[in-house]
Amino acid sequence: APPHGEETGVLLSRADMALYAAKAAGKGQALVFAPEMEARVQERVRLEAELRLALDAKHGLFVFYQPIVDAETGDVTAREALVRWHHAQSGWISPAEFIPVSEQSGLIEQLGAFVLMTACREAAGWPHGERIAVNISAGQLGNGTLVPTVLAALISSGLSPDRLEIEVTETALVSAQGAAIDDLRRLRDIGVRIALDDFGTGYSSLSHLQIFPFDKIKIDASFVKNARPESVAVIRALADLGKRLGVTTVAEGVETQVQLDRIRAEGCQEVQGYLFGTPAPCEADRAIVTTLNQEKEQMESFSMQIPKLG
Ligand code: C2E
Ligand code: CA
Ligand code: CA
Repeated sequence: APPHGEETGVLLSRADMALYAAKAAGKGQALVFAPEMEARVQERVRLEAELRLALDAKHGLFVFYQPIVDAETGDVTAREALVRWHHAQSGWISPAEFIPVSEQSGLIEQLGAFVLMTACREAAGWPHGERIAVNISAGQLGNGTLVPTVLAALISSGLSPDRLEIEVTETALVSAQGAAIDDLRRLRDIGVRIALDDFGTGYSSLSHLQIFPFDKIKIDASFVKNARPESVAVIRALADLGKRLGVTTVAEGVETQVQLDRIRAEGCQEVQGYLFGTPAPCEADRAIVTTLNQEKEQMESFSMQIPKLG
């Protein structure tokens, strides 16, 4: 004080923001309050309130679907459900931005249930029986809510459990621990498949493959993008490991034919990425999504026509 405030309450709250930022920056950090920290907190609070409204009104939230294909035949084996949020003023907001907000505010339960319900209902109508892959966060694991939510989604949609695949990251497993594994085990017992997402990043450990019998390993896109011999060796090793364990391996983020050829040569069974299709809305949402995108284009061209003052 006084540069960071003159009242006790303000100073304490700003000290708290610095503490929060220091914790987020990793272990053993010390940070002094900066005005950007307050702006970030306010932005997060605003986003949380708006996401809560969107969820309650079921407005502006969509599920997009991206194909996962057999690396040899090119057949679509599954589609991954990826949540999308269109905000009336800000336009499309990336899940990388609002998923962490929903996790920290506890909204992830409600958001996760929305995605599960929507995705299972959609997949139940697919004529070729492709699977649906749904992402879940650490916050949905180990609270006793995931299994009932999954069951409700399966029953109300009529989707067979073996057509549902739950994607969980290693990071989520590490933070949720024992009760999380129990949830996954119960899901697997009812026939739901479990995939280990973003493998090879974060708190990566081969021990995760020992503590749970995953049905699928998704190799992180960073190994696919990188053509260095080390990355190629990792892909080959994981593809081999998958074969020995009887686990399907999927390479994520495949964008070019060159990458596809390399991945095929290394022996991955399935591939996913822009080369085969970007995430897209279901048939029923297509018109509304097109309208939302057109509105954005009109706004942009309109704002370009306004001469800047001053
Ligand atoms: P993820 O589960 O690893 O999903 C794959 C991300 O890679 C998606 O980003 C997808 O659009 C993007 N992607 C796919 N193919 C390519 C490619 O060829 N090149 C590049 N550059 N990117 C590609 P998206 O949709 O923005 O989602 C980001 C992350 O947000 C997801 O990563 C997932 O962790 C999380 N997320 C998305 N939807 C949900 C959800 O419903 N629930 C939860 N808990 N998390 C979700
Ligand atoms: Ca995923
Ligand atoms: Ca992934």
